[in-house]
Amino acid sequence: MTNPVPQTMGQQFGRRSWAEPWKIKMVEPLRVIGREERVKALDESGYNTFLLKSEDVYIDLLTDSGTSAMSDRQWAGMMLGDEAYAGSRNFYNLESAVQAHYGYKHVLPTHQGRGAEHLISRAGIKRGQYVPGNMYFTTTRLHQELAGGIFVDVIIDEAHDPQSMHPFKGDIDLDKLEALVKREGAEQIAYVSLAGTVNMAGGQPVSMANLKALRGLCDRHGIKIFLDATRMVENAFFIQEREPGYAGKPIADILKEFCGYTDGAWMSAKKDNLVNIGGWLAVNDWELFEELRNLVVVYEGLHTYGGLAGRDMEAMAIGIAESVKDDHVRARIGQVRYLGELLTDWNIPIVQPVGGHAIFLDARRFYPHIPQVQFPAQTLAAELYLDSGIRSMERGIASAGRNPKTGDHYYPKLELTRLTIPRRVYTQAHMDVVAESVKAVYDGRERTRGLEMVYEPRYLRFFQARFKRL
Ligand SMILES: *Cc1c(COP(=O)(O)O)cnc(C)c1O
Repeated sequence: MTNPVPQTMGQQFGRRSWAEPWKIKMVEPLRVIGREERVKALDESGYNTFLLKSEDVYIDLLTDSGTSAMSDRQWAGMMLGDEAYAGSRNFYNLESAVQAHYGYKHVLPTHQGRGAEHLISRAGIKRGQYVPGNMYFTTTRLHQELAGGIFVDVIIDEAHDPQSMHPFKGDIDLDKLEALVKREGAEQIAYVSLAGTVNMAGGQPVSMANLKALRGLCDRHGIKIFLDATRMVENAFFIQEREPGYAGKPIADILKEFCGYTDGAWMSAKKDNLVNIGGWLAVNDWELFEELRNLVVVYEGLHTYGGLAGRDMEAMAIGIAESVKDDHVRARIGQVRYLGELLTDWNIPIVQPVGGHAIFLDARRFYPHIPQVQFPAQTLAAELYLDSGIRSMERGIASAGRNPKTGDHYYPKLELTRLTIPRRVYTQAHMDVVAESVKAVYDGRERTRGLEMVYEPRYLRFFQARFKRL
């Protein structure tokens, strides 16, 4: 059904190298502090990289969220902000850009992705309904649960195996979904929550074939599909690369076709859409839109600004058009793969195949002697910072949180440390430095001890939890 996954960019693009489709016009100096200062900074941050000060960080791979470099066009657009309370010109530009590239009819701006998640969860979920999804995302699942929904993971089993080379590890297991519908009844399903490239699985894509089959199943039962479009552009790249029939198609066309099989989408524009702040929510159904447009006024702002300045919406409108260009996406994912290939060559355990936005170090195989309750992925993030001032983040047991019913930790199969690459920010030389630091930490792995959690917030604990060395 699918092509094998190309192992190197060289194989994919022939013998010629790719290069970034831009040149650098402005630079921001970096600073690296000494080892003693790093020890102190890590101690003060409770071994949580979210609590480090940015000025104490050298290469910042915490997240690709809001950390992109904007283009000169986007910055020029910021000067064209129409800061009217209502009906800003920039809103209409944003609306047109979403309609043109994602294809949905009705568009609302929100301050960022979780603002949109909040609204769609409130409007789309009745208390006690199930929300099946292809794995979960932290803020997405929390908003679904706060709205009274019960999240059910219906992703294919391969997604939970960091060594499976399945080309579309983001696919939904239709048998799992069908079984849920049979057991609970279609009216007990709020909607299917589908993410384009599954962050928690390692940035793994969903195939067009899987979505088409999902659409068929949902149509038979009268169930809606809403898309987390945050990294859907990157998903479209993988379809172009791996799925029969899509090799010659522009990413922009694949994106629009994919969205066409869904009923609406929410977006953290801080990722694919190349802005530092912003999000949107878009649906095709007018009645649902009316409700969302009413809710946005309560929680975000009037429906023509949704918590954003006019200039933010302009930068987002321009960013959307830039983000769907083939040369941009190829260079973006190419850089992620470059880092992945260095680590693979050195036999460092990472999630394979390399996904769209990040390298995920497999902390279970990195530290087989550290049990999951001692936070191996959190430990690895701390060790990387100590070694070189590089900041990464935990995606394992700390991120997974606790089951709201039993109060127990969730024990996710994947215990990962994420090196997330911001878009258009770092060079290949930075990637070399990162790879060398991971290697140094790997070489010292046997001497490394785990962590104990000493402070735990109630919601999304990974952001603010504190740890101590065991
Ligand atoms: C970041 C993210 C969100 C939440 O968006 P924010 O802009 O951070 O509020 C939702 N879904 C996915 C997949 C994300 O990566």
